[in-house]
Amino acid sequence: MLKIPNTIRKIANFFESFPEIGPRQALRLAFYVARSAKDLIIQIAKEVPKIKQCPNCFYFFDDDNELCNICRDSKRNKQKVCMVINETSLISIENANFYDGVYFILGDFILDQKSLAIERLKKFKEIIKKNEVKEIILSFPITLEGKITAKEVREELSSFNLKFFEPKIGLPKGSEIEFVDPETLKEAFKF
Ligand SMILES: [Zn+2]
Repeated sequence: MLKIPNTIRKIANFFESFPEIGPRQALRLAFYVARSAKDLIIQIAKEVPKIKQCPNCFYFFDDDNELCNICRDSKRNKQKVCMVINETSLISIENANFYDGVYFILGDFILDQKSLAIERLKKFKEIIKKNEVKEIILSFPITLEGKITAKEVREELSSFNLKFFEPKIGLPKGSEIEFVDPETLKEAFKF
């Protein structure tokens, strides 16, 4: 049997840990790196350490500050928090240019207690107290996963005096927030 070099095998294993990458595709990517993307990977490795994660909202930034530029902005309403699953949802809402509150990224759906979001919600409870959060907008995809997550978040935060809103986004079932056009998003956020 033909031997795959150990380094290629290692790189393939690394790619396999990425979301939605299977073993075959991972191996193909590893060979691609060896063949044509060595310099690119070295450049990426130089950039990665510069990325910082905001302790308030879990979004990313790369300047000398302690918080991301949304959380740092004194004009944003810190008592209003839009909760999203991922960074791309945040970007869509932010780019639609109507929202004046802050965000909180769960990082994953809450389908069991192992979810990354469970850990993050613990942190969020501190933020509720610190910023006297009053409103939470649960901006999750209108899927089964999104609905379960919304229910879990409401339960987890039920001891706080919070008002919850869920944007009624008129979009095909299963669509992700990031594929909704800005006007539709803006309408959906009128509660
Ligand atoms: Zn932030």
